[in-house]
Amino acid sequence: MSFKHRLRAFAAGAAFLASVPAMAQENYTADSTTIRKFYDSALTSHESYENLRYLTKNIGARLSGSPQAAAAVEWSRQVMEKMGLDRVYLQEVMVPYWVRGDKEIGRILSGRNGSQEVNILALGSSVGTGLQGLSAQVVEVQSLEELEKLGKKKVKGKIVFFNRAFDNRHVHTMAAYSGAVDQRGGGPVAAAKLGAVGVLVRSMANEIQDVAHTGNTRYADDVEKIPAAAISTKGADQLSALLKEDADLKFYMRMTCETRPDVLSYNVIGEIKGSEKPDEIIVVGGHLDSWDVGEGAHDDGTGCVQSIEVLRLFKEQGIRPKRTIRAVMFMNEENGLRGGRKYAEVAKSKGEKHVAALESDSGGFTPRGFGIDGNDAQYAKVLTWKSLLTPYGLHDLTRGGGGADIGPLKGQGTVALIGFRPDSQRYFDYHHTAIDTFETVNRREMQLGAASMAALVYLISEYGLDGGPAKAVK
Ligand SMILES: [Zn+2]
Repeated sequence: MSFKHRLRAFAAGAAFLASVPAMAQENYTADSTTIRKFYDSALTSHESYENLRYLTKNIGARLSGSPQAAAAVEWSRQVMEKMGLDRVYLQEVMVPYWVRGDKEIGRILSGRNGSQEVNILALGSSVGTGLQGLSAQVVEVQSLEELEKLGKKKVKGKIVFFNRAFDNRHVHTMAAYSGAVDQRGGGPVAAAKLGAVGVLVRSMANEIQDVAHTGNTRYADDVEKIPAAAISTKGADQLSALLKEDADLKFYMRMTCETRPDVLSYNVIGEIKGSEKPDEIIVVGGHLDSWDVGEGAHDDGTGCVQSIEVLRLFKEQGIRPKRTIRAVMFMNEENGLRGGRKYAEVAKSKGEKHVAALESDSGGFTPRGFGIDGNDAQYAKVLTWKSLLTPYGLHDLTRGGGGADIGPLKGQGTVALIGFRPDSQRYFDYHHTAIDTFETVNRREMQLGAASMAALVYLISEYGLDGGPAKAVK
């Protein structure tokens, strides 16, 4: 920056300060100092990172209903109980219990090109193929609409292969995911309606990889349940290329997955009571369950340990928030959302007032900002804090966002739903795979996320989110 520029910047800064009323300026300085302390502590304490290590390495993958999910409940309860919070409790919720069974087998069988193994993973909730497995001809489509147009005659007795890739032109990878995931969720029902015997879905990923990405699928009560698997993006490209050479090739898939009776599980909740408005609640959370492959590190171990870290930062700094802050480890986000629904149901039945709910479920990557799903006044209020947040790289304060677990709270009073937004470029390299492991999480990036969440939670706890006059600081 040249001297002339510096002078101009100084003049602009002075004009800005002059426009801020004295009181607001005082708050601004105090708030800025508090936020700085959150970052100082988060970046130098290893507690959240060690928590993540325990959750991912000692407990590991923790699909709803599994013994590991139960261990994660007990562990997170104990971690929060040691923190001297005002209240730590479990909230009962019945969850589905799906088990993958044997490692899946996926094989392309071509009369012309021989047999080739490809990596597949059963989709969550899928039925198995039986011990013999199933083999059938394959019909490739790019969309549910294209499948519809083919009609029963071309689909009956076949495996439908949904192969629409991520649109990599999207800068935010979540948009690419949203643009492709209808195949995974809705594919099996649409295919079964036309008489298909199985479904393969191209993995939800930006890159060409050997690893398959699982994820939940849906069945309908009145439509036959057919086995459905994700195929790695590399395998999908291979299958698609071979189909062009040999349209009669067959695919063999073997999966022994099954759904067992529901299991009693829990949301785990830790709370710091508000000093001035204890009845106004701010939720900060992630989901404790994960897919059964990998270690559930980015999805969503980081969201859980970050939420716990938010409470730790308040305790450590000796800050008694004006409003109540609740860290919630939701259960069963991945294949049922029962925990999120139960939380909202209980909140409603108790007449609780939620000011805001913030969810971290987009990975433990470098923070970029927050997506705010709220009314105009709430959004405007968050924008008044922009200058407190941007020094930490939190520039992306846009509307929309929220999160799956907090979604069921929508419409309860004027609760604002807020999604923590880290950088999204690498999330779908790991999401729902065997390689979503502790080693892929960068300690500092994850810690920055926790401090970012603490900063926003702090501002909401101090000033609420009612809109109102806090317009002075811009
Ligand atoms: Zn998740």
